[in-house]
Amino acid sequence: MMLIKKTIDLLKSLSLYELVIGMALTGRYFFSKKVTIQYPEERTPQSPRFRGLHALRRYPNGEERCIACKLCEAVCPALAITIESEMREDNTRRTTRYDIDLTKCIFCGFCEESCPVDAIVETRIFDYHGEQRGDLLYTKEMLLEVGDKNEKQIAIDRQQEAKYR
Ligand code: SF4
Ligand code: SF4
Repeated sequence: MMLIKKTIDLLKSLSLYELVIGMALTGRYFFSKKVTIQYPEERTPQSPRFRGLHALRRYPNGEERCIACKLCEAVCPALAITIESEMREDNTRRTTRYDIDLTKCIFCGFCEESCPVDAIVETRIFDYHGEQRGDLLYTKEMLLEVGDKNEKQIAIDRQQEAKYR
């Protein structure tokens, strides 16, 4: 039995059996459809429910949506959101501070789910970075800017996502 196994191994070795099998596998993938892409020129499709960089939204008249209810702050498992608020002269409440520490955020989406007015959302943006300490602490102004720049795509995504909520 041992002799038969040794003979088979020797024949395999002499016929370069493993090499042929390996080359056959390489050849199969060489001619098949490629799965790699040339990022950032090419990008893979994204779901409308993708959970990327956060944004604060406004209504079409420019009024910010957030009513400072603090539900997102309460639900955030990473304690990444800090909100301060005050009453305005017209008796509506608005935030005076809305920070998200993206170094703490785990992109769970709970803030977005909890918001009663679709103010805080997660966008499709994933390729952002920080170079200095504090760069990833996003303030209210920064979040509103992300919202203003991407409102069109955000609105389309929220519409598509509505049927699952
Ligand atoms: S995505 Fe999750 S962890 Fe990040 S800020 Fe929202 S609730 Fe907090
Ligand atoms: S973003 Fe939404 S959940 Fe958070 S404080 Fe504003 S209104 Fe409330």
